[in-house]
Amino acid sequence: MKAAINAQIGKIRLFLHRGLNGPQALAFLPALALAAFWLGGETFLIAVALGLPAVILLTGNFAIPNNGQSEPSGYSDVVNNLTANKMADASLSQSRAVSMASACILVEVDGLEEIAQRGGDAAAEAMRDLTLSRLRNTLRRDDRAVRMSDSRFLILLAPSIRLDLEALLQLSTRLQTSVEEPASLENSMRYLSASIGFCGSPRLPDDATGAQMLESAVVALNEAIKNGPSAIRAWSENMRAAHKEQQNLRTEVDRALANGQIQPWFQPQICTSTGSISGVEALARWIHPERGIVPPAQFLRVLEDAGRMERLGEVILQHSLTALRSWDQAGLDIPRVSVNFSDSELREPNLVQKIQWELDRFGLTPPRLGIEVLETVIAGSPEGSVARNIVELGELGCHIDLDDFGTGHASITALRKFKVHRLKIDRSFVTRVDRDEDQHRMLAAVLGMADRLGLETLAEGVESVGEHALLSQLGCDHVQGFGIARPMPVDQMVDWAKEHANRIEGAQRLGRGAK
Ligand code: C2E
Ligand code: CA
Ligand code: CA
Repeated sequence: MKAAINAQIGKIRLFLHRGLNGPQALAFLPALALAAFWLGGETFLIAVALGLPAVILLTGNFAIPNNGQSEPSGYSDVVNNLTANKMADASLSQSRAVSMASACILVEVDGLEEIAQRGGDAAAEAMRDLTLSRLRNTLRRDDRAVRMSDSRFLILLAPSIRLDLEALLQLSTRLQTSVEEPASLENSMRYLSASIGFCGSPRLPDDATGAQMLESAVVALNEAIKNGPSAIRAWSENMRAAHKEQQNLRTEVDRALANGQIQPWFQPQICTSTGSISGVEALARWIHPERGIVPPAQFLRVLEDAGRMERLGEVILQHSLTALRSWDQAGLDIPRVSVNFSDSELREPNLVQKIQWELDRFGLTPPRLGIEVLETVIAGSPEGSVARNIVELGELGCHIDLDDFGTGHASITALRKFKVHRLKIDRSFVTRVDRDEDQHRMLAAVLGMADRLGLETLAEGVESVGEHALLSQLGCDHVQGFGIARPMPVDQMVDWAKEHANRIEGAQRLGRGAK
């Protein structure tokens, strides 16, 4: 009983402190009723019950919007992480003191970078200010909205009685709609999209801190961004478990990158006309002490999410060039090593200098390095840093391979612009090509087009002798696949290449003998 009375007194204190505001006023009716009864008995209770509605109606103080006013709590419009945590702590304590709920909503705005590119930094800054005032206009007066970074906004809701999932989803949708409304700025229309993650205090344990509420909203926001654009996600306990697991894996993969457990294995590529090795593709493998050989499908996403693809690229490139030099020294004839480059690696501003420097360090010429770029990346990046890097790497003399060709929509103009040397025809067009008429026709058309455009071709995922034979017959220049060899560690390559050279020599001797 004492705890209930204390909670109700807390509500009254808050009520006196903030004034009567919005529908929350209704929240104080039970508090006032209890207090009135406690202080003055039945008569006082009746007086309050009759008088209060009249006061509320007279003040007309319902749902006062924030009207784009600046942050009313003394915090500035832009806060750092420390202040954000303090604000979240204060918000949670305030709501707990009155036995009500609070919530943290994070809004990540997408599109500012493009606005900065087209209209300059001032235009992007104006959009940030507009976004903040739009958020504040959608909120109630005592809710708080501030900016945490160039594109992230933090909202802390004032104590409320009902902050369940449905209410928070509705509010988040309203916030998103307001941010995404097209804005006319300096005579042109600007468009933003917003991902939203939130965490309501009712979902947290009783002893959770405001910083934990904020961290949970960050987890939900990351989930929304992953599913974006314009996704909204609520935090849940399952999300935290998945997040924890992801974080552990991230730490483990990071350590593996640092201590050399992640390294490339190499898969040979064969020239169909001579049978000799025309190159090898470097494919990342995690040599895990307990789990054995882990394929990239199980760790690339983690590295991508952690923004560690550039580090992976550096590690794979260094190992690949070291391998190429060691094969040269062993007297093998392996003309080129091809490395897969992700979208984010290709965005790096000084990628070309870095690669040139690495090649010089290893005493290798640029044509000895192949750059494998996914067709989807070329199709999606006609301009900007990705396009610039690919063009400059081609100009440097590196070989540009268009990976998974047939799965994206690269135009013929793009093939020319990026100076693509070779199309790597995706495995889906190669499988059963010797037994499937449609597959055969499709592949013949692709090879014909490449021939007319002066591009070399490589068929990926060649698994059978029949596929290999037909591809040679159709004029495909190179083949790669389990039917020739599976990816293997650097030192196994030496034995394989020697055996392969012997096999070709034997076949040639047989051929000459038959003539
Ligand atoms: P990808 O570049 O298309 O590489 C070919 C994939 O097909 C490799 O899988 C290879 O092991 C597999 N493969 C080769 N021949 C055959 C075959 O005959 N049949 C079948 N079923 N599969 C075959 P892996 O090594 O698991 O790599 C998967 C993807 O991961 C690669 O696809 C590439 O996109 C990415 N990846 C691998 N290493 C790296 C890396 O170092 N950096 C980046 N950015 N991506 C990488
Ligand atoms: Ca590849
Ligand atoms: Ca491929």
